[in-house]
Amino acid sequence: MSALVQVSGLNVSIGALPVLRDVTFDVAPGEILGLIGESGSGKSMTALALMDLLPPRARRSGSLRLEGTELNALTERQMCGVRGRDIAMVFQEPMTALNPVLCIGDQVAETVRQHTGATRAEARARAAEVLARVGLPQETFPLSRYPHELSGGQRQRVVIAMAIALRPKLLICDEPTTALDVTTQARIVALLRRLVAEDGMGMIFITHDLGLVAGLADHICIMRGGEIVERGPTGPLFREMRHPYTRALAEASV
Ligand code: ADP
Ligand code: MG
Repeated sequence: MSALVQVSGLNVSIGALPVLRDVTFDVAPGEILGLIGESGSGKSMTALALMDLLPPRARRSGSLRLEGTELNALTERQMCGVRGRDIAMVFQEPMTALNPVLCIGDQVAETVRQHTGATRAEARARAAEVLARVGLPQETFPLSRYPHELSGGQRQRVVIAMAIALRPKLLICDEPTTALDVTTQARIVALLRRLVAEDGMGMIFITHDLGLVAGLADHICIMRGGEIVERGPTGPLFREMRHPYTRALAEASV
């Protein structure tokens, strides 16, 4: 069976500055890939390249395939359909993804309406259903609440609800728990793990925290200076780290 996502020989430069060099990896359906690296290593650029959301000055080469379809060959309009519907993304700071003057029910319902022919009532019902799935059931979290009335972890749950509402094939989480306390981090990671198991989507989980992905990712790619310097299945990679940089990262995260 072909991979869900195949990134091959991805190079990105911004002006004269190369930011990604020959980035190559696959994600299978139902698989969680951990993309690890310190700040500035190119993790977000990799995610943005997949979403075709690189800064305007960026130049990109290489192949990006989703279920065998070359994303480079798509028109901007087709790519708009892929973004949000087939590939969804969760960023570090939930407030950047939420509209502060829209109640949480409407935020999720609007996402559904944008990408489907759902009526207002259908979208609202779908919003209630998906918010319940992420641990925000209507009985305790009325759809009429606003983002500022929620905790950071609850806001991130709303963002995750918006991301999975359309049952994407790939969910990219870019440092989704970095702004949260340790207990809330663990709950969000457990939620993401359950959603992947239930829906069978692929996930790219981006973090600088090696410890956080140890119990989550199936495979790990370690990035440094825009390149993947080490990769492998999570267990063996943790047991036998080859690259001195990865060993240093592991020691720093204990
Ligand atoms: P990470 O997500 O791993 O912290 P990024 O992918 O955001 O790293 O950044 C990779 C490189 O690209 C860094 O050298 C960063 O300075 C550079 N970069 C990021 N965003 C921009 C931008 N908008 N314009 C120019 N360079 C950028
Ligand atoms: Mg980043």
